[in-house]
Amino acid sequence: MRTPFRSRLPGGWPEDAPPRSILFSLVPYGCSGEDRESLGNYIGRLSEAHGMARWTLTNTIIGPAAQALFDVSSARMAREIGRAGYSVNVSSLTEQAHQWAHTLNYLTQRNNLQLCTLLPLKELVSVFVLLSDKQRLCPSCYEDDTRAGRDCYGRLLWNIEAVKACPLHRLQLVNRSKTKWSPVSNERDGAPSREGEANRRLTESAGHMPASDYEVESSRLIAELLDDAVVFSDAGYSASAQSAFLTHAIDVLFHGRSAYFAAHLGVSKSQMHGWAKGRVRMSLPRLALTAYCCGCAIADILLGNRVMLSLRPAPHCQRRRLIKRGGRGARRSKDDLCAELDTLIRSGRARNATEAAQSVGLSLKYLRKNFPDQHAFLVGHGREVFASLRSQATETFDQIYLSEHNALCEAGVYPSRRRVVERMQGKVRIGRRQEVQSAQRKAHAQTGVKIAPPGCGRMAARPSSGRPEKRV
Ligand SMILES: [Zn+2]
Repeated sequence: MRTPFRSRLPGGWPEDAPPRSILFSLVPYGCSGEDRESLGNYIGRLSEAHGMARWTLTNTIIGPAAQALFDVSSARMAREIGRAGYSVNVSSLTEQAHQWAHTLNYLTQRNNLQLCTLLPLKELVSVFVLLSDKQRLCPSCYEDDTRAGRDCYGRLLWNIEAVKACPLHRLQLVNRSKTKWSPVSNERDGAPSREGEANRRLTESAGHMPASDYEVESSRLIAELLDDAVVFSDAGYSASAQSAFLTHAIDVLFHGRSAYFAAHLGVSKSQMHGWAKGRVRMSLPRLALTAYCCGCAIADILLGNRVMLSLRPAPHCQRRRLIKRGGRGARRSKDDLCAELDTLIRSGRARNATEAAQSVGLSLKYLRKNFPDQHAFLVGHGREVFASLRSQATETFDQIYLSEHNALCEAGVYPSRRRVVERMQGKVRIGRRQEVQSAQRKAHAQTGVKIAPPGCGRMAARPSSGRPEKRV
């Protein structure tokens, strides 16, 4: 392995000096599959420890190191870390996650950061419905973090779609889609930080929904797999091992009748046949279901262990299909569908391709493939509708900003962005920083009040010479 930054050792430093870490060698939180920190969270904590933004740290240190180690573009690393779903992506089992984990291992002089990703599962489970597209958390885990005086941190286990509960607290995981949360310290200089407050509010509002036995047990099985995978990740997936286990289970539990096993798990006979013959690889949700119903570990299925099994009733919540497929529309003739789509487009009831596909009962893929003209029109129309809605929303936001800005001016208070936004809370959704900044610029340009540099407060509140009519 090449060693970037080697030449930057201080002058006179002995050649045989033991290697020093370039970034702080933070220890990842958690010690087992149930509570191990995710790499995405670790990166957030590392940036916080250096007092740098995530992007800046990546752009100046992590990116150039990855470029030297793996020949990847430093700019690409910086782009990746700026995306909304970065935490799940860098903690997954892709090549990208590999590069992040090993670059950070190098920079922090650690050797275990790949355990904060799903890389140990790479050779074992398929990526089908593996990662969750929602960010979730267990409120009691956060409460434990707060009590223990550590940062509230995101667990790797919560990134897995099939995990619905916290195996430690037996609670359902909750989505944190609405509340902003950032994996940084709860306390700064003794005072609670904004993020810490957000975490506390979130924990209070999240509620503690008890999870079902199946949710808890299947999550525990997956957490166990995370631990087991570290030991036998080199073994890799083997169709014959999966087949050997299932044949054993069908023989022991259902006297050799695979259809009974399929009915018990709530899957189709053909699916069970494909698994048992080793032609179809089982997805993680199905592995957890099978292990739960057979009373064994997921690793037993993957390794083809002929262990002692006990039959457990399948949960009621289990869906026959893991993903939603298209509707029944495709059973009609293409001419009928075409006429129906044209009517729909003319009536203006469908605002975009997705809505049209849903109302006709087709999958989006089927619509795109079989009706390319209608699809293209609907996509274009959808974009226009979206742009117009967005511009309306911006206009409303700007108007409300301006009226609150004016109200503050009338009261003789300088309309700083913070004050205006505080008054807007509850009246309109507060958008992104750029949107607020743009509304601020417009309001100041319209009223002639100069934008004060940060920290100037009331002092800078003077109208521009051209607009003497405004009292400030
Ligand atoms: Zn928990």
